[in-house]
Amino acid sequence: MGKNTGKVEHRIFNPAMECISRDELYALQSERLRQVVRHEYDNVRLYRERMDAKGVKPEDIRTVEDLKYLPFTEKSDLRDEFPYGLLAVPQEEIVRIHGSSGTTGKPIVSGYTRGDVDVWSEMMARTLTAAGCSREDIVQVAYGFGLFTGGFGAYQGANRIGAMVLPMSSGNTQRQIMMMQEMGSTILCCTPSYAVYLGETIREMGLDPAKDLKLKAGCFGAEPWSEAMRKRIEELLCIDACDIYGLTEICGPGVSYECLVKEGMHINEDHVIAEIINPATGEPLPYGQEGELVFTTITKRGMPMLRYRTHDLCSLTDKKCECGRTLARMGRITGRTDDMLIIRGVNVFPSQIESVLVGIHGVAPHYMLYADRVNSADTLEIQVEMTEEMFSDTVSEIEAVQRKIFESVKSVVGIATKVKLVAPKSIPRFEGKAKHVVDRRKL
Ligand code: AMP
Ligand code: ZN
Repeated sequence: MGKNTGKVEHRIFNPAMECISRDELYALQSERLRQVVRHEYDNVRLYRERMDAKGVKPEDIRTVEDLKYLPFTEKSDLRDEFPYGLLAVPQEEIVRIHGSSGTTGKPIVSGYTRGDVDVWSEMMARTLTAAGCSREDIVQVAYGFGLFTGGFGAYQGANRIGAMVLPMSSGNTQRQIMMMQEMGSTILCCTPSYAVYLGETIREMGLDPAKDLKLKAGCFGAEPWSEAMRKRIEELLCIDACDIYGLTEICGPGVSYECLVKEGMHINEDHVIAEIINPATGEPLPYGQEGELVFTTITKRGMPMLRYRTHDLCSLTDKKCECGRTLARMGRITGRTDDMLIIRGVNVFPSQIESVLVGIHGVAPHYMLYADRVNSADTLEIQVEMTEEMFSDTVSEIEAVQRKIFESVKSVVGIATKVKLVAPKSIPRFEGKAKHVVDRRKL
């Protein structure tokens, strides 16, 4: 399997499912698809109306091949049906809500039954096991705990394995490092950018991870990263770094996960069906071709999703992996079809910022967002044009407007930004679709 530290053992949490034959998997997926389509049609108005509009009845969907007849689901559907409109079970069966930012100030939320939490825990147990985690391990969870799915997802997976969990949540780097050292953490779960920051801080403190820490592997995801960043994390922390992918709408982290071969993320296909479509036409594309990733959940009961468009771009392969798993793999996310940015783990849409700016007196609706990475942390600067009147105002008046924008963006979008008011007509104008984002982060 090459290029590994050799510190972690090859393990599979649920070989019966993770190494299932493709034929058996197809039959299982088809069976579960029939059930979920019936469940949605009977219990969720939106799906019933959409299927009726297309002239599709639940009994028309027999196998995975028939997926293409089903309507798509979009993030805007979750926003429009916020908070409970897409629940497919009575509210008293829901035991948990998670959420993340949508295209407006309102979050999008997903509801979980007890069974949904169990399924998600299994998916995350497979994920951590694929990175070498066993019940002897000490798992430091430095993903945030809260509405965000990262912290709880990693916690539940480690819990299912029977490993010992340190639910640190994100931030407080000195304390993370102290606990890592004193408790002897062996597995780290956090965003890749935070892993780099932790690694750099550990080195600056004069610690040698090979001697002073017991870390051996990590599961990193929730934002895009690259092979170069993997190399950096592995060198800084002396670990094997595995990629993990997920999204709130589907369950959270653990939708797919890398094994130690590190050549793509195995999709938990007994729980979700993945498709790649042409983002412009919606037509399904064959394995190997890059396009937009679409998921249908086939075991979720609380808020299942039919053909959810992730807007993430990647390709799939069902080539057998050296690790022995038969589950198809998705490649790294290479981009998005929309303009969503992930800044320090928070999904940010330019439209959210625009909605704040239009409500502020003294600025024109011309703005540009600059994303940078400073000391391994993401920063976002908002440059917005002043109106002519504001331009002739005093410095303190201009500063007051900047502060107002900062506060409003912080409360609506949930992140601190740099705000700079610039001279009228200094932001470039576009003849076609306006461009509002410059992402200068090198991944
Ligand atoms: P959220 O629902 O807030 O967790 O955000 C989900 C989004 O985060 C996905 O649709 C992706 O755009 C991004 N994401 C999650 N994991 C990864 C990953 N491993 N690589 C790249 N992007 C990721
Ligand atoms: Zn594998």
